[in-house]
Amino acid sequence: MLLTITTTHQPATDLGYLLHKHPDRVQKFKLAFGKAHVFYPEATAERCTAALLMEINPVDLVRGRKRQDFALKQYVNDRPYVASSFLSVAIAQVLGTALNGRCKDRPLLVKTPIPLEVTLAAVPCQTGEKLLYDLFEPLGYRVKTARMTLDERFPEWGNSHIYQLTLAQTITLAELLTHLYVLIPVLDNEKHYYVGDHEVDKLLTKGEGWLKEHPLREVIIRRYLKYQRSLQRLAVERLTADDPPADNEVEAQDQEEAMLEWPLSLHQQRLAAVFQVLKDDGAQRVLDLGCGEGQLLQRLLKEPHFQKIVGVDVSTLSLERAAQRLHLDRLSERQRQRIQLIQGSLTYRDARLKGYDAAAVVEVIEHLEPERLAAFERALFEFARPNLIVLTTPNREYNAVWETLPAGTLRHRDHRFEWTRAEFEAWTADVGTRFGYEVTIKPVGPVEDQLGAPSQMAVFRLGEG
Ligand code: SAH
Repeated sequence: MLLTITTTHQPATDLGYLLHKHPDRVQKFKLAFGKAHVFYPEATAERCTAALLMEINPVDLVRGRKRQDFALKQYVNDRPYVASSFLSVAIAQVLGTALNGRCKDRPLLVKTPIPLEVTLAAVPCQTGEKLLYDLFEPLGYRVKTARMTLDERFPEWGNSHIYQLTLAQTITLAELLTHLYVLIPVLDNEKHYYVGDHEVDKLLTKGEGWLKEHPLREVIIRRYLKYQRSLQRLAVERLTADDPPADNEVEAQDQEEAMLEWPLSLHQQRLAAVFQVLKDDGAQRVLDLGCGEGQLLQRLLKEPHFQKIVGVDVSTLSLERAAQRLHLDRLSERQRQRIQLIQGSLTYRDARLKGYDAAAVVEVIEHLEPERLAAFERALFEFARPNLIVLTTPNREYNAVWETLPAGTLRHRDHRFEWTRAEFEAWTADVGTRFGYEVTIKPVGPVEDQLGAPSQMAVFRLGEG
């Protein structure tokens, strides 16, 4: 991955002051995912170019601890070559002073727009180059792109989705780096770090002064926050806090892109939504009922705020897989204390499940025999009785969207039933009333006009008294 920044502002070597990197030296920086080098291919008074070269180790990325939420599971991937969100991390870590607009040696220059040209050797853009223009031209850049062939030796293989991108403008270096910092991850569909609350802060801080007015504001927010609706909404709300109220801007967006591009899988969205509710609630002791192979447990374990995490499932095979996923045998003693897996059935009252702040029940009830539902309700809402219950189940109406699913079929052969939105609402209201919980229902996934969202989430809170 190569990024070059050129200026013709004179003396051009002042670029070295702005970047805090001396033009005569080659410098190397160690990052979590590889190495970065900064050097100057040319440094004269007339013209000076700084280069940031990143060496990413794809094996490190998928191995052990560094893997985390990283979606590219293969050892063969494009990470070493394309401008990905790693570049943003490198900009922040290696060029942080410049990104933040600080320069004690040239305090005036740092605030002065100077002619700058930046070239990114390889930018992935699945939807085609138009997006590159649409993102950068409104910010005042002259944009040039050159599409790469897949392999120069075999032109018949056609083009890749990778472009060389050149941006030129008279602008301060800090502004330019800020634009790259936000917009490179927007182009990259495989963000490597977990997208959480602090990402909203980063986006809004780095977007200050330009994001609000950007015509693709919603696209930027949506992609930067990796299609996580609750965070997107938060970002839009905070960005437009002083504006006259507009109705649900993010929802109003066409949903197509999120579906057609590289969508975060529905299941990931669902887990993220449930995780967020648990986290926002401040729950510390949580149950994951019907935890399956432990995907939610894995997220919960990464968040130190959750002090006690218990996964329950009827299937020992699933629990074994969960134990593997969580590396239970390799956890430190302290981590090991935080997590426990229990084999049990949710349709029986179970004293082990008492005394928790919250319970997640993600895509489980539809696996229960309808006649066992009443037993499940009592076991959870009456006996275990946590303060907060977050429960998801498919919305049957949405099945019509999936052309591959024959009409009237359920999504999974183990599903005993799938509810419409009205059926789910009726059930949640009834359970809420009978056991004294207040209920709110939220869609999960892209909302279709007539059909709603693919998944539905109910949040039950134990009423006062
Ligand atoms: N919550 C997980 C798994 C959903 S699949 C996730 O979202 O990834 C449904 C899970 O419910 C399966 O792991 C299945 O074994 C479990 N399950 C089904 N009936 C159950 C019961 N009566 N008691 C406990 N777990 C049950």
